[in-house]
Amino acid sequence: MDADHAHATSRPVSVPLGATVTSAAGPAAQLGAIRSTGGPRPADPQRPGPQREPGAVRATGAPTDGGLQDRFGRVATDLRVSVVDKCNLRCTYCMPADGMPWLPQSQLMSTDEIRRIVRVAVQSLGAEELRLTGGEPLVRKDLEFIIAGIRADNPDLPISMTTNAVGLDRRAQALKDAGLTRVNVSLDTLHPETFAELTRRPHLDKVLAGLQAARAAGLGPIKINAVLLRGINDTEVVPLVDWAVSNGFEMRFIEDMPLDGDRSWSATNVIPARDIRAAIEQSFSLTADPRGRGAAPAERWEVRRHGETTLAGHVGIISSVTEPFCSACSRTRVTADGRIRSCLFSHEETDLLTALRDGADDEGLAQIWRDAMWTKPRAHGSDRVGLARPDFVQPERTMSAIGG
Ligand code: SAM
Ligand code: SF4
Repeated sequence: MDADHAHATSRPVSVPLGATVTSAAGPAAQLGAIRSTGGPRPADPQRPGPQREPGAVRATGAPTDGGLQDRFGRVATDLRVSVVDKCNLRCTYCMPADGMPWLPQSQLMSTDEIRRIVRVAVQSLGAEELRLTGGEPLVRKDLEFIIAGIRADNPDLPISMTTNAVGLDRRAQALKDAGLTRVNVSLDTLHPETFAELTRRPHLDKVLAGLQAARAAGLGPIKINAVLLRGINDTEVVPLVDWAVSNGFEMRFIEDMPLDGDRSWSATNVIPARDIRAAIEQSFSLTADPRGRGAAPAERWEVRRHGETTLAGHVGIISSVTEPFCSACSRTRVTADGRIRSCLFSHEETDLLTALRDGADDEGLAQIWRDAMWTKPRAHGSDRVGLARPDFVQPERTMSAIGG
């Protein structure tokens, strides 16, 4: 369906979460000269390019104890673990319509392997928080067991999950009981037709049911992640903020990144952070969050309705493309097949799972991880370039295969 047509004919969904859905004109400023990237599709996106044999060549200068430091003085304490590469949606900015060549079961980390890797990260390397992601984490039937095992090892660890919430209505309470702390739910639109166009599945009602269950189970504070695409959902900035703050959720807008499976990312589709702020300010006033940003990817704002002094809620904007925050990055990632990625845009991975399966002890695994993180690139997968540079090269693995 043509995007403009979709907007012309669709009506805001009747949202069972106390929604106040209003309309607003979409921002239309151009991004500028960030070039579209892509390059050839890899033969096997799940087994991408350069990989480092664990322990084969020690990273020069890497520490041999302590946490996950890199050459630029950053320390990674924010662990993101992908538990599966499969997904039940096909968001256009993330996955091809036909899905991806999924990892075979034997290459996926098992319940116990995930538990062990998280334990090493927390207890030997100082990880302070964990985010489970994918693919879609809810695709894993053993997710409650994964979380319960991690919780048993790490009683005080904040454990969050990024999810599309399809099926969360049936599992929210069990996940909470297992030890999940909170969720980020991805939701880009409140219009059923736009949702179906954007995710290629007609499941908006399931997402809203999942959100309701997450709130009822106490999986908060709940953050809503939205990727804005020009001409598709960019008219929904104010309605989404309005709906989110009315329901006690924090709205987070994420700039579209060149990590899509179709390799069709284009700068002209990116709605830059400055336009998102301008769009919100049509109906709300924004004040920089006095708590500051720290190493968080989102720049956070307090939101008040025009003419009101009462705080309505908070909004975050993740501006990886136009206002990158790599110098403060504190993230370390593990893919669903147990490979360390020091950066979303890395061209190199380090195989932790094979070392684990070969019998490495905790300290051996920790040292592989220290070595991998020591060579974390300066920004956007490289020491030299950024997303805005003409020589930026899109990594072979895409968002769902890395774990966003
Ligand atoms: N399936 C889960 C979900 O959608 O929440 C978790 C995995 S998904 C890869 C994690 C986050 O990455 C989602 O919030 C999604 O919107 C975001 N994402 C996916 N592709 C993206 C892209 N090309 N640019 C920016 N964000 C993207
Ligand atoms: Fe699936 Fe999440 Fe990617 Fe959408 S963004 S296709 S829900 S992994």
